[in-house]
Formats: sequence, structure tokens, C-alpha cells
Amino acid sequence: MTTAKLKTMGQQSGRRSWAEPWKIKMVEPIRLTIQAERTRALKEAGYNTFLLRSEDVYIDLLTDSGTNAMSDRQWAGMLMGDEAYAGSRNFYNLEEAVSTYYGYRYMVPTHQGRGAEHLLSQTLIKPGQYVPGNMYFTTTRIHQELAGGTFVDVIIDKAHDPGNEHPFKGNVDLGKLEFLIKQKGAENIAYISLAGTVNMAGGQPVSMANVRALRELCDRFRIRIYLDATRMVENAFFIQQREEGYADKPIAAILKEFCNYTDGAWMSAKKDNLVNIGGWLAVNDNELFDSLRNMVVIYEGLHTYGGVAGRDMEAMAIGIAEGVQDDQIRSRVGQVLYLGDLLLNWKIPIVKPVGGHAVFLDARKFYPHIPQDQFPAQTLAAQLYLNSGVRGMERGIVSAGRDPKTGEHRFPALELTRLAIPRRVYTQAHMDVVAEAVKTVYDAREHTKGLKMVYEPKRLRFFQARFEPVAE
Ligand SMILES: *Cc1c(COP(=O)(O)O)cnc(C)c1O
Repeated sequence: MTTAKLKTMGQQSGRRSWAEPWKIKMVEPIRLTIQAERTRALKEAGYNTFLLRSEDVYIDLLTDSGTNAMSDRQWAGMLMGDEAYAGSRNFYNLEEAVSTYYGYRYMVPTHQGRGAEHLLSQTLIKPGQYVPGNMYFTTTRIHQELAGGTFVDVIIDKAHDPGNEHPFKGNVDLGKLEFLIKQKGAENIAYISLAGTVNMAGGQPVSMANVRALRELCDRFRIRIYLDATRMVENAFFIQQREEGYADKPIAAILKEFCNYTDGAWMSAKKDNLVNIGGWLAVNDNELFDSLRNMVVIYEGLHTYGGVAGRDMEAMAIGIAEGVQDDQIRSRVGQVLYLGDLLLNWKIPIVKPVGGHAVFLDARKFYPHIPQDQFPAQTLAAQLYLNSGVRGMERGIVSAGRDPKTGEHRFPALELTRLAIPRRVYTQAHMDVVAEAVKTVYDAREHTKGLKMVYEPKRLRFFQARFEPVAE
């Protein structure tokens, strides 16, 4: 089935609509605040949506990280927590789920994705080495830098163009990578940091052909590939939808084949694994695993719990199996495409093709009159909240941070506001409300003014920076 078919299912005459493969057993009330309340809340939050209280938010699309709804089976699993300090039964269940569905031999749990990034970066990167990857991710890059490495972006150029409709905008540019390897010497490349899908490019996938070719190139130079598997199930869905020869393969088979081309992976289980907290790091190399198992004890916890409770490991193990079901992933990405389609129908500028976990609004096109150092994407996130209580987040100049060498802002090509959709949480009606909110803000775009930063944290500034409207 092609994406086009999926997008229009239910709208074509003679076709049947599809619905979520679950029904709701428990509800959490939410409330739309009045405009005056939102104005005050936003001011108190320094115009940074990360600093809003959740209670002041109506529909929360800040992130899809840890905001998933767990299934009745996962909740039942929580009651089966074996909270032994060492050798918890739930650890072995998690280990088995990782090896069954991702295929890696050895695994340590971590408290979340960045815990795993920390361990891997500290273990594999020697100061002065380079870490090429398909576009940076905030926490990933900072751990690589703190370990003394330099991240080098080797994603295809099309990934930086929000309007380009390449089906696999997450692909590595093998020419760029080979050039870098030859220029710096293979011994100065710590490993390839491969992500599927690429969050910062708008949730864009990597093709199977690309990872296969990457494997061949890396074998020639004896370089290892480590995968940020956080959204790899969504990536597998796009391969099934778009890549020749995969239409009839189950998601689970595609996921495993992809991982098979890599030497290990780290995971924020708060995404594809359908839990609220947790992560893991898995590798095939016995010696490397030995080092990681030593490190995890220092920073996370003993290697059979790694900073998460037994019950959380159980929820992860069950979440892994649920997350790779074809109907689950199809409805998850289908909901994102549904929102994207509504906006595209109104000609609202978003990143195309619509990605796996979020719709990214192109803030440059909303506000061509706001210079990038007046934070167009931050402004758009603030306006959306003000208008309708919908919370998104900035993915532009604020997220990109400053160049550690020059101290200047990095000016990324993409200046985006992200609306990330939590898994199994909101209904189609919520998506309709969000789309209408975006349209209202878009219609008022010409009168919108930018922001200035009045407090700037040293690292990962987007989380805690504070802003004020620029003077009239
Ligand atoms: C969320 C995320 C991480 C970091 O994981 P945390 O669980 O938030 O620490 C790393 N990589 C990608 C692609 C992510 O989306």
C-alpha cells in the first residue's frame, strides 16, 4: 500500500474508514482555559512552552516522549514487578524482547535514552575523534561532545529542505561520509551515529537500501554503526509503505532486518516502546558489552536494572511487542498523517513528507518578516498556545544552540515548530481542533512579532530559556 492510499483511506467513496486498534478504558479530564489565563501562564513561563504547567495546557503536543498511554496488559505487567536488586525476572523478559524484536545479543537497561547515549559515547569516543551521523539530535550530540568527539552531519542535502518530498530524507549521503573518512582517516572516526527516523529533519526515514550500502562502506573501512533506535519502528513502517519489495513484509521483520545491518543500538523506550520512562543499550560485541556493563553500574544502576524499576522493565518488554504490531504502528503514523493532511489542504507550510511522530510547521514561511535571531519557531509555539491552549515546541535556532568554538548562535536551515503526537492518547477530534488552531494562528501571521531571549542556559538551552516579546 502506498502512502497516498493510506492518507486518503476513508475519504474515497467505496472504501471503509479505519479506526484505532484499541478502545478507551480510563479517561483523564482536560480543560480548555480562557484566553486571559493563557496570557498570564505564557508570560510566567517566559514564552517557553517547556516552562508551562501541564494543567494550563489543553492538548499537549510538546513531545511524544514518555507521554504514551500504556495498555491494560502493560499495566498488568507493572503488578508483576520483581523488585529484586539483582537478577529481576523482568530484566530477563526485557532482554528477551530486545533480542527477539531488535536482534541484538547483549543489553543493559538505562533510565532513559540519554543514559544510554552517555554510556556509549564515553565508552567508544576518544577525544579528538569524529562521529558522523544523519543529522544531529540534541541529547545525542551533547554526549558525543562531552566525550571529546565532534559530530559531523552527513545526511543527504535534501533533508535540510522542508519542501523536498524525497521519500527517505533521513538517508546518509555516502559520498559525504566517504570523503570525511578519507580526509580524517578511518582511525579517527569513533563510529557512525545512525538514527531512524531522523527527529530533527521532521521524523524522516532511512531506507533499507541506504543502511545496506552504509554497512558495505563501513565494512571496507572497519567502522562500526550504532543506531539510535528510538523511532525505528516508525522508520520500518515507512520502509513498508515506500520501499520496493517491502509492502508485504511485517513491520517486525523489517525492523529486525534493519537492525541486523548495525552493531548495536540505543533506545529511548519513552517513544516506540510505549512506556512512560526507560531506555536500553544493546550491542553484539562481547568485549564492548563488558565495558558497558561496568559503566552502567557507575551511572545508572546494576546491569540488571539500570535505573528503572522491575515493573518498568516489564512494561517495556510488553511495549516492545505491542509497538511492532502492524495495526498499532499504522494507526500511530496514520494519525500524524491525518493532521498533516488537514494542514496541507489549507496550504499551511509544513515539512513534507509528513514524518512518523509529528507535524513540523515551517516557521520561516509563517513569519518571513521575523529574523531568525528573533526566534520565529519559538514565537509560533507561543502563539499557538495563546490562541488555543495547544502546546508544541521549538525546533530551530534555540534548539540548535551555540557553536562551542565561536560562541555564536548556530543558524540551522530548518526553523520549525513541532507538534508531536503522543501514542494512543488523543482522538481524531483532538486533531481537528489542533488543525483549526494552527489555521487561526496562520491567518494572523502578518501581525505577529518576534521574541528576544532574556535568560539563556549554557547547555540544551531550549528546555529552560526565557523570552519576552520584542519592543513595538
Ligand atoms: C528522545 C530521543 C532521545 C533521548 O532520549 P530520552 O529518553 O529523552 O533521554 C534520543 N534520540 C532520539 C531520536 C530521541 O527522540
